[in-house]
Amino acid sequence: MTENLTIVDHPLIQHKLTILRNKDTPTAHFRQVIREVAILLGCEATKDLPLGNIEIETPLEAIKSPYLEGKKLCFVSILRAGIGLLDGLLDLIPSARVGHVGMYRDHETLEAHRYYFKTPDDLGGRQVIMVDPMLATGNTAIAAATELKNAGASALKFMCLVAAPEGVRAFNAAHPDVPIITAALDRELNDRGYILPGLGDAGDRIYGTKG
Ligand code: URA
Repeated sequence: MTENLTIVDHPLIQHKLTILRNKDTPTAHFRQVIREVAILLGCEATKDLPLGNIEIETPLEAIKSPYLEGKKLCFVSILRAGIGLLDGLLDLIPSARVGHVGMYRDHETLEAHRYYFKTPDDLGGRQVIMVDPMLATGNTAIAAATELKNAGASALKFMCLVAAPEGVRAFNAAHPDVPIITAALDRELNDRGYILPGLGDAGDRIYGTKG
């Protein structure tokens, strides 16, 4: 695949992803580990933030030292599973603004429907990073990216944990300008739209709402 896709294969991420894939990982541990992976993926998603220099004094001498400048950030969580990644990103960059997009997946048609949308007014001036752990059919992420662009977002990235080839193809076709950052590209979708091997329903695993 040559699409606009980065697979972050750092050993720590791959180790933690194994913990997340394991069906025996308890809810509290799952929630903690997804937060840690978000921090690691967040480093990749923000690696091109522009730097300037500021003058500071170390205890020994004055220097010019790199400092983030320019583009401000907005993290957008696709509800509800996106919150699991959002928490880690906010650990990394607490000053970022936050938006929420509520999308639910019709379990029959697998189509995405919006039920909630709240973002900062000035999305156009921000690097927007939308997050959802699973890129499955792509319908939800495609619809969320379209909503964000309609609201003014022009610099947009999508960060997820696990992607299916079908979802990557669909998302790249709909939003070729939006890079995808993921920890894994899995094999395929099953007939219910779940990613194989995947990690199950990310929202249920984060919040313990099943089993
Ligand atoms: N959403 C999930 O939470 N898991 C999948 O495998 C696919 C979509």
